[in-house]
Amino acid sequence: MAEFSIIERYCQGLGADHSETQLGVGDDAAVIRVPDDKELAISVDTMVEGVHFHAGIEPADLAHKLLAVNLSDMAAMGACAQWATLTLTIPNYDEAWLAEFSKTINSVAQQYDLQLIGGDTTQGPLNVSLQIMGVLPLGQSLKRSGAEVGDDVYVSNTIGDAALALKLMSDDFDFRESGHRLLLDAIHRPQPQCELGLGLLDLANSCIDISDGLVADLGHISKQSGVSLELNVASLPLSESFRHVSNSIDYDLALTGGDDYQLAFTAAPCQRAQLEALSTSISVPITQVGRVVEKNTQAIKLCFNDKTYVLRNNAGFEHFS
Ligand code: ADP
Ligand code: MG
Repeated sequence: MAEFSIIERYCQGLGADHSETQLGVGDDAAVIRVPDDKELAISVDTMVEGVHFHAGIEPADLAHKLLAVNLSDMAAMGACAQWATLTLTIPNYDEAWLAEFSKTINSVAQQYDLQLIGGDTTQGPLNVSLQIMGVLPLGQSLKRSGAEVGDDVYVSNTIGDAALALKLMSDDFDFRESGHRLLLDAIHRPQPQCELGLGLLDLANSCIDISDGLVADLGHISKQSGVSLELNVASLPLSESFRHVSNSIDYDLALTGGDDYQLAFTAAPCQRAQLEALSTSISVPITQVGRVVEKNTQAIKLCFNDKTYVLRNNAGFEHFS
């Protein structure tokens, strides 16, 4: 099938409709209008077979994850995602694959009020890339550089589930039989924290989404804010599955495993009640895991209640201190 027919059949009219869209799929470029009191947040994430997903991945899982990882970047900025462009590189024309992929892009994009306004389609090794655009009130983005000494450090929902799932997949673990289906969903169907990100705009001082692991990502906040962070490993939010799947709780995995797509953020202690109210109103748990201190020789200091905590693989940790 010709490239243009693929575009017409599988890439047109996907997701929501926005009144600010002047031109969508079909011309040489899309045209959008940004209101005077708003600015655009723009981000792109690419997913390559063998690097970000395994060969033979369900097209619905791939489509979901591609949107989720990009929506998560918007959430971390406090931006309201509105538009996306999609680069689709496929090895051959597979009607069933394309139909499933396109259907899922459409349903997830609608769920998050995102409109697909353009892209590019080529033949080659499977590779998908999405550029996402969101709007922000002028000058108010949530940055990695805004953490202040005295801030509390928080994490949304639970962490470590995707990393544990990945580890178990290589052991042929039966997720369904064992009742730990939630772990598989964590890796295939991450839920971007869009509502939380929007709510944090007025409350948090800094924010990042956890894609490379909590310690690594908080390392970015430490570096860009010029502060150090102290975390209590005992207070990490871990799912029931994470706690019960193995004999002992693998705290290192929760601290360093990637693909969580939760938000880690810092906020002044005077915001505690407001944060609690936000968390309740959107039904997204948030957990205080530490605090921001004056910059010192250790970017991220870990303790387990009143004892120092040392990661087994110290080399990885040193990279971030
Ligand atoms: P050009 O040759 O000018 O780049 P294309 O033939 O690549 O134009 O694309 C035609 C139209 O289809 C453009 O509006 C482009 O944004 C859109 N498009 C192409 N591929 C995709 C895709 N995978 N998803 C969404 N829109 C796409
Ligand atoms: Mg093109």
